[in-house]
Amino acid sequence: MSATAERRAIGALDPRPLRETDPAVAASIDRELERQRTGLELIASENFVSRGVLEATGCVLTNKYAEGYPGRRYYGGCEFVDEVENLARERAHRLFGADHSNVQTHSGSGANMTALQALTEPGATLLGMDLSHGGHLTHGSHVNFSGLWYRVVPYGVRASDRTIDYDALRATALEVRPSVIIAGASAYPRRIDFGRFAEIAEECGARVLVDMAHIAGLVATGHHPSPVPHADVVTTTTHKTLRGPRGGLILCREEHAKAVDKAVFPGLQGGPLMHVIAAKAVALGEALRPEFGEYSDLVVRNARALGRRLAEHGYDLVAGGTDTHLLLVDLRTTDLTGRDAEALLGRAGITVNKNTVPFETRSPFVASGIRIGTAAVSTRSMGENEMERIADLMHRALRSEGDDATLSAVDSEVRALCADFPLYPQDDRVRGESLA
Ligand SMILES: *Cc1c(COP(=O)(O)O)cnc(C)c1O
Repeated sequence: MSATAERRAIGALDPRPLRETDPAVAASIDRELERQRTGLELIASENFVSRGVLEATGCVLTNKYAEGYPGRRYYGGCEFVDEVENLARERAHRLFGADHSNVQTHSGSGANMTALQALTEPGATLLGMDLSHGGHLTHGSHVNFSGLWYRVVPYGVRASDRTIDYDALRATALEVRPSVIIAGASAYPRRIDFGRFAEIAEECGARVLVDMAHIAGLVATGHHPSPVPHADVVTTTTHKTLRGPRGGLILCREEHAKAVDKAVFPGLQGGPLMHVIAAKAVALGEALRPEFGEYSDLVVRNARALGRRLAEHGYDLVAGGTDTHLLLVDLRTTDLTGRDAEALLGRAGITVNKNTVPFETRSPFVASGIRIGTAAVSTRSMGENEMERIADLMHRALRSEGDDATLSAVDSEVRALCADFPLYPQDDRVRGESLA
């Protein structure tokens, strides 16, 4: 390279790839890619996105300010980001059959904050699923805005079968007359009866907010009944079973459209992340294709197969199994805590998260359960045979008592299994080099 070519004009962008301009960050990204390729990802809230979603997430739309909505922006130059946002919205409507959508919300938590702002006032009474029974922090935990700004009354599962106790929920709702009932969960493996929530809400004059963050991909493909006909507002993340970029999405009835849009902007956010909205459009487009239905079907079959085999090994599955992508294992029948189990499996190349279980007696940092999901391994096209093998590997790691030889033997098998189902094979673009 000549001396003049090396000297750049003042202010000019460095055209070299990240690998050269910032080797430290690039190396961490490489190591994370390697971790994803060689380990078994069983965290129920994670997935692997397509190259198209990655490209959109890493594109020049990140440069654009677009406060407002398509056709009504506070900035010039929005004609092309308007196209992108309209595509995302149209696809969301087609996929979920909702009257209105807002694709600007940055995350699942933000979507819930927005929905509550649109539906009620601070200080109002909410009914939300207890965190240790499977609910989410944003459904009323005392450490979260929801618990700090609203009066929250929790509901939960029955002790007998650890499924939602709709009769108790109804009795509580009639007694406290909540302004909003929140349905949806982060660690509940069974189908949720959204129609029942709507009936109870009707009886006590409440609004219904459904948070389908975990199951959105299953709802999109008919593998879980849709909340859309039953809810005033539906919130979701786009990055779990929906397999899109990290982000949020809100669907609602026409009567709440203005309130929801105002709550997002200018209520709680400034400019939208247009590159992420482009990636949401791509993911929603993928979810509309028949292959995504086959994928969701595999996710659910895999969760059942994994659960069946874990039960054969003697593990206690909360609610007796699963109807979704998710399993919750109560380890109180073993001598392990959730924290122990997470650590042992981690040493064997299997990633799960410790999780509280219904009627928990330990702190959330220790917890008595682990949560397992099949969305990510299904994206690698692993099937029911592999799920049985994974359950066997998990069992060996969990019984290892921390023995190094056993755990590294399991880890080798995990790596071999992963090598048979390659993730992003020979694709440097996933490192963020597509636009270099
Ligand atoms: C994951 C999840 C969220 C939060 O999503 P973030 O994008 O991490 O804020 C909200 N609600 C439920 C039920 C979830 O599972």
